Amino acid sequence: MDICDLAPGYIRAIAPYQPGKPISELSRELGLEEAGIVKLASNENPLGVSPLARRALEAVLTDLARYPDGNGFDLKQALSRRYGVAQERIVIGNGSNDVLEMAARAFLAPGLDAVYSQHAFAVYPLAVQAVGAAGIEVPAKDYGHDLAAMRRSITPGTRLVFIANPNNPTGTLAPARELEAFIADLPRTVLVVLDEAYNEYLAEELRSDSVGWLQRYPHLVITRTFSKVYGLAGLRAGYAFAAPGVADLMNRVRQPFNVNSMALAAATAALGDVDFVRKSFELNRSGMRQVTGDFKRQGIEYIPSFGNFVSFRVKDAAGVFRKLLRAGVIVRPIASYGMPHHLRVTIGLESENARFLDSLKRAVESKV
Ligand code: PMP
Repeated sequence: MDICDLAPGYIRAIAPYQPGKPISELSRELGLEEAGIVKLASNENPLGVSPLARRALEAVLTDLARYPDGNGFDLKQALSRRYGVAQERIVIGNGSNDVLEMAARAFLAPGLDAVYSQHAFAVYPLAVQAVGAAGIEVPAKDYGHDLAAMRRSITPGTRLVFIANPNNPTGTLAPARELEAFIADLPRTVLVVLDEAYNEYLAEELRSDSVGWLQRYPHLVITRTFSKVYGLAGLRAGYAFAAPGVADLMNRVRQPFNVNSMALAAATAALGDVDFVRKSFELNRSGMRQVTGDFKRQGIEYIPSFGNFVSFRVKDAAGVFRKLLRAGVIVRPIASYGMPHHLRVTIGLESENARFLDSLKRAVESKV
């Protein structure tokens, strides 16, 4: 008997997360120069690391022989000041992926279930399956969350509902009013995990007062990340805001030192780098115009996006993906999200966007 056959069936059935192809991998596979490759596949920040975070990283190097602060006091204090949320409501994570998993581990078990939308972020079904709970995938409406249908899908065994706002990979946004009505209407035995990984890319007037909602809705968990607008994807830092009791349970399933010292220091500094965040926001806005403007000229159908990426439709998505790779441009196929005819591109620097658009044109016209 192979010990692997004895792992629970729900673990053996997990289809692993498919990350964006790393630059080094494409370089190895096709013999391309790393410097000539443009990666627009993982919704990373094209401006790199914030200068303040970089300085904080240098300062922490001398202290790496010590364990990190397992409670992340400085980062929690910075978040608490910034958002007016008590420290007892904050859970820090090794990326927001980590806090999403903590929510699943703390509240789900075999026999219970979680609700999420079709085309929603891939980690939700993975986190649910890893703890032996059942996932209920609700068909999307115009690629976005169908909140009414999600409400109807709640069962007595539902403990979690995941909502990504904006959603990845579709870039859709649930309007604040509808979202709050949805949360208000839920039984208090169902936690809403509101994943706001791309919140900082929203124009001010489009943001919901989700942090304010925490006071009213003890069944609300907000998750955010330092991987996107703060430019720290490689370090892994994210956090959740929740009711104190919920945060306490999530902290019990958290690894004691889940966020490393470099990530803690850089995230704390990045939070205060207002200039960098503004620049990142503006670059994304102009890049989004550049990319979607060209899509329109090329007659390429796309899903209007509120994030730092946009999904577009092409005739032979897998073929176009491969042609783009050969041209040294990495985008993301999203067939595993139930969107086999779409590709997702992250908004990059102006020159990277131009290179992508030019390569796409050639790929679609079959010139490469
Ligand atoms: N939520 C959404 C919607 C995402 O797109 C991502 C990153 N792809 C994450 C969470 C997780 O990001 P991280 O773990 O880097 O914070």
